[in-house]
Amino acid sequence: MTQATHEDRERWAERARRLTLPCGLFVDGAMCQALSGETLPVYNPATGTVLAQMALAGKEDVDRAVAGARAAFADGRWRKVSPRERGRRLLHLAALLEAHRDELALLETLCVGKPIADSLAVDLRAAARTFAWYGEAADKVYDQLAPVPPEALAMVTREPLGVVAAVVPWNFPLHMAAWKVAPALATGNSVVLKPAEQSPLSALRLGELAMEAGIPPGVLQVVCGDGPTTGAALGLHDDVDCVAFTGSTEVGKLFLGYAGASNMKRVWLECGGKTAHVVFADCPDLSRAAAAAADAIFFNQGEMCSAGSRLLLDAAIASPFLELLMEQARRYEPGDPLDPATRMGALVSAAQLERVLGSIRQAQADGARLLTGGRQCRQETGGWFVAPTIFDGVEPRSVLAQEEVFGPVLAVLSFRGEAEALAIANGTLYGLAAAVWTADLNRAHRFARELRAGTVWVNCFEEGDMTVPFGGFGHSGFGRDKSLHALDKYTDLKTTWMALAP
Ligand code: NAD
Repeated sequence: MTQATHEDRERWAERARRLTLPCGLFVDGAMCQALSGETLPVYNPATGTVLAQMALAGKEDVDRAVAGARAAFADGRWRKVSPRERGRRLLHLAALLEAHRDELALLETLCVGKPIADSLAVDLRAAARTFAWYGEAADKVYDQLAPVPPEALAMVTREPLGVVAAVVPWNFPLHMAAWKVAPALATGNSVVLKPAEQSPLSALRLGELAMEAGIPPGVLQVVCGDGPTTGAALGLHDDVDCVAFTGSTEVGKLFLGYAGASNMKRVWLECGGKTAHVVFADCPDLSRAAAAAADAIFFNQGEMCSAGSRLLLDAAIASPFLELLMEQARRYEPGDPLDPATRMGALVSAAQLERVLGSIRQAQADGARLLTGGRQCRQETGGWFVAPTIFDGVEPRSVLAQEEVFGPVLAVLSFRGEAEALAIANGTLYGLAAAVWTADLNRAHRFARELRAGTVWVNCFEEGDMTVPFGGFGHSGFGRDKSLHALDKYTDLKTTWMALAP
């Protein structure tokens, strides 16, 4: 570690020591404890130590939060505010997120172990941008008049749904919350946000900052707790109109069941993925593709729904490509998440560490060839780190090629010809994203059209913008976050037909 990064690291560590951690529930505009007094520990993945004891919201706390959100919706304290004014307050919230960027980035890094540089440059930037984007959009979406006969006037208007529950994961805590909360608030709903039990701190600060931005009490509630207790209580609640979920496919399916067992609330699911990253022999720039392939699986410790976890290499270039890739992998050796020079941090939990090491053991047992990594590291810190891992010779039907690992473990497969590449790329239950590298424009279009994925990248990876929708096909879920399309999830269409007197 250089002197400069050592000092930077010390500065972040000192800030972390001075930080006051929020640790209750945020209901009707104030922090409170769970009615039962129960708590759950939140850990620092970089040290394996307890960071805070968080309130655990039971069914009665969820009832209280939903009732408050319903009351706010019913009396129109937010729904009836003009779209322009709603937009102004969301823009204010975006500005507050920017103003508290260091503090919020630190909360993300402390809870989930991601590098502080990424929390600042990716998570916080994206969260603020999301609130600003929907703030700007709030008064720019028009309703419709239908082309009906002259004796009538038919209006097709969008109306907010009511109480939206946003249930989100830990890999991008504030960023994923923003993708749900911002469009739901822009359209006039009340929201009950449930962060993951591993990463509740930034969500609580979001609740407080929303109040400061002028979003009335009750309109954004935050209930913390685990899935089977707090998440299930929201999923089964008869007065929640919609659940917007991001998380695993397994839990996404549970939410469909909860809706069927309760009030048929609508459910939107952003679930897992097994992204195919396909490199043809005519790839325009092998070095750039290798750097992208490494980032695709090692950024955010591989804890990404869209991680490029399957690298499909044209057999003609497999060998030189792997050499370039191994060189890139060395740049992701795990380090202290509070050191601004660190590119890969810790896995979120001891359970996640076990899951990732289990996948590595399984891949070895299935005959895949370990090229690098495959081991836990930095054990002396007490934290949960895994070295960047690459397996070659992975069989398309093997567990590693089929199941989400959610860690820094890359499966490399090779192919001969477009047809085989497509069969392997589309050969999983998931359909979140895919990427293809080729210099042939015809092939790029042909291949992109046939890929079964919600997002396809050509000659790049993980590019995007608030203007384009994000979501999956198949077991990756349905419904889209980002862009104006996300507004459809939080509004219902109403037809008002008026007979006109002659
Ligand atoms: P998870 O499914 O375990 O948890 C997600 C949320 O659901 C958490 O808030 C959790 O408390 C809650 N939950 C868990 N069990 C529940 C239950 N029985 N009933 C109700 N709620 C429950 O997922 P995770 O481990 O937090 O996140 C990793 C998963 O998220 C991965 O599969 C990843 O692919 C997915 N993900 C998808 C996207 C996307 O946009 N498609 C983005 C990020 C993460």
